[in-house]
Amino acid sequence: MAELIALTDRGLYCAAGDFFIDAWKPVHRTFVTHGHGDHAHAGMDEYWCAQESEGILRWRLGTQNIRTMEYGERRYFGDVCVSLHPAGHILGSAQVRVEHQGEVWVFTGDFKRDTDPTCAPFEVVTCNVFICEATFAFPVYAWPDIKDEIAKILQWRAQCEAQGKAAILYAYGLGKSQRILAELEGHTAQPVLLHGAMARGVEIYRQAGIRLAATEMVLDLPEATDFSGRLVLAPPSAQDSAWTRRFRHFEQALASGWMQLRGNRRRRNLQRGFVISDHADWRSLIATVRESGAQRILATHGNTDALIPYLERELGLSAERLRTAYGDEEELADAEVSA
Ligand SMILES: [Zn+2]
Ligand SMILES: [Zn+2]
Repeated sequence: MAELIALTDRGLYCAAGDFFIDAWKPVHRTFVTHGHGDHAHAGMDEYWCAQESEGILRWRLGTQNIRTMEYGERRYFGDVCVSLHPAGHILGSAQVRVEHQGEVWVFTGDFKRDTDPTCAPFEVVTCNVFICEATFAFPVYAWPDIKDEIAKILQWRAQCEAQGKAAILYAYGLGKSQRILAELEGHTAQPVLLHGAMARGVEIYRQAGIRLAATEMVLDLPEATDFSGRLVLAPPSAQDSAWTRRFRHFEQALASGWMQLRGNRRRRNLQRGFVISDHADWRSLIATVRESGAQRILATHGNTDALIPYLERELGLSAERLRTAYGDEEELADAEVSA
């Protein structure tokens, strides 16, 4: 029997329902799990996404041909029933549940289980076959509570202030930055300063009704501004660019899951690293696999060297790697996974 969802050179394809999921080359119809660049590609005839994702996709893809579904709503494509369920990754992120002749497959896209005030919490969806991500699929990845990391960011800012420096925090512009701003809400005396590339994403989240800390654009401030003690949020690509010169005295930090490994911080020439990730860590990945009830696991993204043997030997499941084109632009360009 043909697979309900199969890997093709254009993306994951459901032949019975004639649609793709997170296609990376032009197709007639694709579901999009969320707005990150490795999942949302331009050039498709028809996009389907969760309602909360629409504003992000319009921005990132510049397209109008987007159809939306509410979380939990069921729709038929041929005799295949499709529904979207929260993935807890970023605003509007969705898992895709596909049911055909009594068989259920779930594709998580990127997901996490940790609390995040900017999106609906991950929903466990039971299935026969579970396609999940393996971005941080090593036991060394164990996320601290985000409240503790936020407290460290605030301490670091205060230390920078005492030294007459600005505190420049690099964080991915879609999802991560807004999550940090939501966690900072009520904890900062002065507005958080934003790099220009952050403006649109922050605005979209605010329009969606998500409460974020007050912000101010760096560009709107006069040349002579004293930046000491100011917390600045910028995309990782701004590090060491000419843009940083205006701050004169500053420290640089990165918020990323990769910061769990000290070597990554040193290599990137950062004073500080904060372990904040929008992906599942090892424990929650394994817990989620178990809760899905699936007997067969297909893993996308990253390195499955630890995951697949664990699932097979410890949990007695059938597990394989799916070689998709998904990467992790939101986590880091130079993702040197040296676990
Ligand atoms: Zn993502
Ligand atoms: Zn991804």
